[in-house]
Amino acid sequence: MSTFSIGIDLGGTNLRVAAFTSDWKRRGAITTPTRVKDGPGAVLDDMCAAVQQLIADCGESGELAGVGLGSPGPLELPAGRLLQPPNLPGFEDLELKTELEKRLRVPVVVECDANAAALAECHAGAGKKSGYQSLCMLTLGTGVGSGIILNGRVWHGFSGMGGEAGHVPVYHDGLLCGCGSRGCLEQYASATAIARAGQNLFGTRSQNGAGKITARSIAEAAQAGDAESQHIYDGVGQALGIGLASLVSTLNLPLYIIGGGVVAAWQLFAPSMFAELDRGSYIYRLTRPADVAVPEAGKTNVFPAELGPDAGLLGAAMLPFFQSLNS
Ligand SMILES: [Zn+2]
Repeated sequence: MSTFSIGIDLGGTNLRVAAFTSDWKRRGAITTPTRVKDGPGAVLDDMCAAVQQLIADCGESGELAGVGLGSPGPLELPAGRLLQPPNLPGFEDLELKTELEKRLRVPVVVECDANAAALAECHAGAGKKSGYQSLCMLTLGTGVGSGIILNGRVWHGFSGMGGEAGHVPVYHDGLLCGCGSRGCLEQYASATAIARAGQNLFGTRSQNGAGKITARSIAEAAQAGDAESQHIYDGVGQALGIGLASLVSTLNLPLYIIGGGVVAAWQLFAPSMFAELDRGSYIYRLTRPADVAVPEAGKTNVFPAELGPDAGLLGAAMLPFFQSLNS
């Protein structure tokens, strides 16, 4: 009998739940708005209703391997206790694994959403494509998430807070971050940070006047030849290069992946990113591939992600199949 698993991607805006076969084909999906204002009980009820619907839809043709949940961090694992989720006010101290298992009566594995996305890239995306099972992924979205995968499994640290490279300081005494520190990578390489840099330069309207200025509108202006917009992306690349230099010199992994919405602007930030990485890490200089765009065995490869915005959802569904290294 074939097996399937169910992934839950808990976002501050949307709650996405999907069933996948063990070879990662999607069998069904349910997306609802995350009812943050109605409180944790309502969101747990919505998750359970969606999971039970998908079990009913898929149950006849396979056996459920388990349920995986990707949640915004920081989290205390394995209990899945939410600490101070900025986009889920009122959810502090909620124990996701305990509450879901009580309601669903099936095993639930909880991970930080960026770790889940990295797991998916490992087994179905850039890792699979280039033949590596160990990697570090940075996800550039509203914030900067990151995940470390070693030999095909998540490294989440002793209490679940490993792989938070978005909060590694890249500029001493730099911009104040929501985490309370200064100069975090997130303050320079997230979509939020790019939009803010644009607003500081151009005001709140996009350069073509079609709407609010966003990371995307700044990228479009840079692609059209606007030097100031390109300069913003040079800064993104520089911050990423500084962050990556620390990661490369510390971890010596064969593969680093950049994902999230900002990666659409890869061509705009990659040159300054590689220049800074080269300058900041002698391990990188010793292991730099002949062509940074071509995977090379025995070298440090840095590539854009392959899977797009669904990586976190697929990775959540993979969790029942790949216990973390810390379990
Ligand atoms: Zn921070």
